[in-house]
Amino acid sequence: MFQFSKLKGIPFFILIGISALIVILNLNMTTPVKKDGINNYIVYLVIVKYNSKDLIIIRKFIQNGKVKYVAVDPDNLQTYLLFQDNLIIRPITWNQLSAQFKKAAYIRALQAARNQSLSLQNSGIIHGSPKLKGVTLTVDLCPSHKPLDRVIFTSLIDEFKKTERPVPVAISITGKFMETHYNDFNWLIKLVRSGDISVTWVNHTFSHRYNPKAPLTKNFLLEPNTDLSFEILETEKALIQQGVIFSIFFRFPGLVSNQKEVSMVTDFGLVPVGSDAWLAKGQPVHSGSIVLIHGNGNEPLGVKDFISLLQTEKSSVMKKQWIMYDLRESIESEFQK
Ligand SMILES: [Zn+2]
Repeated sequence: MFQFSKLKGIPFFILIGISALIVILNLNMTTPVKKDGINNYIVYLVIVKYNSKDLIIIRKFIQNGKVKYVAVDPDNLQTYLLFQDNLIIRPITWNQLSAQFKKAAYIRALQAARNQSLSLQNSGIIHGSPKLKGVTLTVDLCPSHKPLDRVIFTSLIDEFKKTERPVPVAISITGKFMETHYNDFNWLIKLVRSGDISVTWVNHTFSHRYNPKAPLTKNFLLEPNTDLSFEILETEKALIQQGVIFSIFFRFPGLVSNQKEVSMVTDFGLVPVGSDAWLAKGQPVHSGSIVLIHGNGNEPLGVKDFISLLQTEKSSVMKKQWIMYDLRESIESEFQK
């Protein structure tokens, strides 16, 4: 029990300092991520006929007493929350699914990711179709003590306000970032609601463990005793609890993985997405690139490079010759038949 009397004897300026620190921390940490209200959250694979279209259900859970599902449109890669009582569902295996939807972008992207799983870094899909007239921006929000780099989003909105509204952006979110940056997360949600941005939420794991002393082969998700199921599903639950539907995309922390991890991620129905243009590493941007920057305050160089890129393309943006692509759209363009 907190007792004020115990504070006697502590110099006043220290108490003021401590109070100020508590206020600063509270600016972004007022409400922890709630995951209650969601029960029996499981990976689930069935087909459902919905508005005369076959959708693939990948998750099932109970929220506030109601059974709900997360479903994927295999052609346009959109995800939906379904909770109607009269849904007619049909069980299916991944093999049957792959045969039935072999031409669908979703199945082709999952297969391509499995085929590009051998390298230690940057496995999965790393670019959209080179025929695109622009790029897809992915912003990683790994755990951080620093605030969200809001200038990324305000610059993007400002640059595209006359040509593309809402402007699409993919955000790779970690559960830990949501837990400690509640106000920043809410600020992003407000930008979505006001129609300034549209977000493809990419799963970047819950805890995003990193050991600066460990080799890559034993780091990030490859760290011993990592529970991949927890890392994936807890992040999804945290998003659903905030009223947000996650996408089918997954970004490996540090872009580090091995074949087994890629295979496990795709078994969850998620498509690993890397990058062919990590700006802070000086990688050049091409048509159809999946651009990677960090928005968690830890990569000012990448943010600066991205703002320079916007300036360089300014006249093309105004002529609609350089646009920002929704990650779903850019992956669909690469894998549609
Ligand atoms: Zn990360």
